[in-house]
Amino acid sequence: MAAITPAAAEFATGRCYSFPVEKVIPIVPQNRLAIPPLRQDAGLPLADTLGRGLRDLRISVTDRCNFRCTYCMPKEVFNDDYEYLPQTEILTFEEIVRLSRIFASFGIQKIRLTGGEPLMRKGVESLIAQLRAALPTIDITLTTNGSALKAKARALKDAGLSRITVSLDSLDDATFRAMNDVDFPVGKVLESIDAARDAGLGPVKVNMVVKRGANDHHIIDMARHFKGTGHIVRFIEFMDVGSTNGWRMDDVIPSREVVHRIHEAFPCEPWNAHYKGEVAKRWRYLDGGGEFGVISSVTEAFCSTCNRARLSTDGALYTCLFAQQGFDLKSLLRGGQDDVSIRDAIAAVWQHRTDRYSEIRTAETAKARKVEMSFIGG
Ligand code: SAM
Ligand code: SF4
Ligand code: SF4
Repeated sequence: MAAITPAAAEFATGRCYSFPVEKVIPIVPQNRLAIPPLRQDAGLPLADTLGRGLRDLRISVTDRCNFRCTYCMPKEVFNDDYEYLPQTEILTFEEIVRLSRIFASFGIQKIRLTGGEPLMRKGVESLIAQLRAALPTIDITLTTNGSALKAKARALKDAGLSRITVSLDSLDDATFRAMNDVDFPVGKVLESIDAARDAGLGPVKVNMVVKRGANDHHIIDMARHFKGTGHIVRFIEFMDVGSTNGWRMDDVIPSREVVHRIHEAFPCEPWNAHYKGEVAKRWRYLDGGGEFGVISSVTEAFCSTCNRARLSTDGALYTCLFAQQGFDLKSLLRGGQDDVSIRDAIAAVWQHRTDRYSEIRTAETAKARKVEMSFIGG
């Protein structure tokens, strides 16, 4: 059962909190936690301290992006002075494939390539082809801002990509340009979604981060536009990821309000999850116009079923989107460790996992310095 979080409860009382963007500096973590000891008695299947398995792997293939979405990579911080990772610190395709194989030995069912903007990583199609060859039966997906997708959709499909998610925060051009903050037009993203469908990457999932006052007045337009197309919009609560996006609880539109607004325009009902631990809660339109989803990380935490691991651009394992530190796998790879030792290290980290950030989020935790989302991947 999803928990109503302390942050949401605080919001309900009208006491809200915030922290100013100019006072924070992004962290690229320096002090990696040491790998804990492997508990030999723990056995398989692998489970963490709360009994959660390891099902999904998200891989950030670059910490760079051509957008400056205000809620993710605000321009004031990610400016010309910002130091991105040097090439030598970024995992090579061979290293990503090797780690993916090792993760797959735990029964991972899905790999999502993300970032930063994954289509900015040169040769990402080749990475997908290598992953597909190594892991023929696994679901390989990718999340993109859609800016470069039109030209690449066919090649991604041919390389073996299973499906794609495109982020799109508004259909209103002015609003979209303001939110991506690089004046990128909405029309090009819509063309990319068409190209992805034509290439066989549908149904396309369309992610809309809902931020009060910025784009919440476009929720219904978004639902209407994609209703009946087979594509699936997911309305995401604005989250306090990283420490630079000036997050305020006031700016979060709870998913239940999103559903309420949509229901008034297009009656809908809850629908079954595809599998245990699915992040989005599914709703379907009563008139047969398909489905949409809501992702309620802030107001209805789903930590109890969280089975996702994240691999950062520089090869650290993060067991939570809101983590402050990761476990350095790259130095094991480059230090000559064999697959069994690396597998044991991953298992040990997972066995010790206690993360449940969204269940315990408060004004204080929201202010804590966490790793940036563009670094570990959304
Ligand atoms: N650049 C790609 C993109 O935008 O699709 C992939 C990386 S992005 C970090 C992955 C997803 O995280 C996107 O759908 C984005 O909208 C979402 N996201 C980023 N910052 C967020 C925040 N503060 N709250 C909620 N979702 C966020
Ligand atoms: Fe870039 Fe995606 Fe973050 Fe927007 S959400 S700044 S497109 S990484
Ligand atoms: Fe998983 Fe962390 Fe999000 Fe909870 S807060 S659902 S543990 S990533």
